[in-house]
Amino acid sequence: MRKKIILILIFTSMLFSGCTKSDVDQFMRNEPSSVGNNNITTSEKVVKNVFAMDTYMTLTAYGNHAENATKAAIAEIERLDSLLSIGKEESEISCLNKTGNLILSEDTAYIMESALTLYEQTDGAFNPAMYPIMEAWGFTSQNYRIPEKAELQQLLKLTDCDKIHFHSEDKKVELGMSGMMIDLGGIAKGYTSSKLMDIFSDYGVTSGIVSLGGNVQTLGSKPDGSSWRVALQNPDGSNDYIGVLEICDKAVITSGGYERYFEQDGKSYHHIIDPFTGYPAESGLKSVTIVSADGTLADGLSTALFVMGLSKAISFWQENSDMFDAILLTDDDVLYVTEGIQKLFSSPYKQNIITKENIINDK
Ligand code: AMP
Ligand code: MG
Repeated sequence: MRKKIILILIFTSMLFSGCTKSDVDQFMRNEPSSVGNNNITTSEKVVKNVFAMDTYMTLTAYGNHAENATKAAIAEIERLDSLLSIGKEESEISCLNKTGNLILSEDTAYIMESALTLYEQTDGAFNPAMYPIMEAWGFTSQNYRIPEKAELQQLLKLTDCDKIHFHSEDKKVELGMSGMMIDLGGIAKGYTSSKLMDIFSDYGVTSGIVSLGGNVQTLGSKPDGSSWRVALQNPDGSNDYIGVLEICDKAVITSGGYERYFEQDGKSYHHIIDPFTGYPAESGLKSVTIVSADGTLADGLSTALFVMGLSKAISFWQENSDMFDAILLTDDDVLYVTEGIQKLFSSPYKQNIITKENIINDK
């Protein structure tokens, strides 16, 4: 299995042509070398690296309160990890999966409710009950295997989220079928990055950026007042970018099959599952990036639109364009950008602009 980070934070002005690693202040990859040995603290800027939620994370904050804010942010990541991790036996989610019912903490209840709302809104493309399928493929244990179709058909019966009863007043959840199990991996890191923005703000930080694997979220603008520049790395693993977004106060969250997968007999099997087949989604999209002020929503939608494929994803955006923007890259390297971020996104690729009415071959 290999994991890669798609998003690179760029804090310097940069042109596409001749762009190299040295043009960026941070070039992050999901490798151990990036942890522990490059924490930076100056009077104005604090950068901390941490490994949690199976992901290498980088937190950057500016100003007098940056040190305390980043320390508190790391404590928050660890707290949320201990609630949400399916790999930790004592986590709240593991407990729910064992017992089938539980009164949830405030954080887990919020994520569960968001996940179930997304399940409805995306007609099941986002499905928080995929744990049995993830387990069958070995993604939960790293003992990878290709399940039989009949086995997947059986397990799919356990992913019917209409059978989950969630009571938002008392935060009680009941999984309606024996064997049903929850996996919030498609949404938890987006919630976490949103919470980190709250913590930065609580500590008086007005300028900060976090990257949790492929999930980036920004607070305010850079200290000089300019926008953050977030580069989307090419999913093919090369060091070039499919484009750079200039944003403030937004989450930029990417899903792609290349982020986590295994190979068998020359074919690769990735971790984003089509809930209608039980197989890794082969929707014709190579990566989906969602831009939204709401990190939780952005994370859920990145997974959902990846499952939907291009044409459903376009319709979904056209119906919900007030909630988010998106950048879609197809398997044959055609790039689609929604009109809300058209002016904030620069790319060496030809861009097809998705408007509320149609698609314009713009540049
Ligand atoms: P992401 O990288 O945000 O797209 O999330 C992928 C993760 O979400 C996987 O590793 C699974 O834990 C979980 N997942 C896989 N397929 C789905 C799906 N169709 N809906 C919701 N979560 C999923
Ligand atoms: Mg996601």
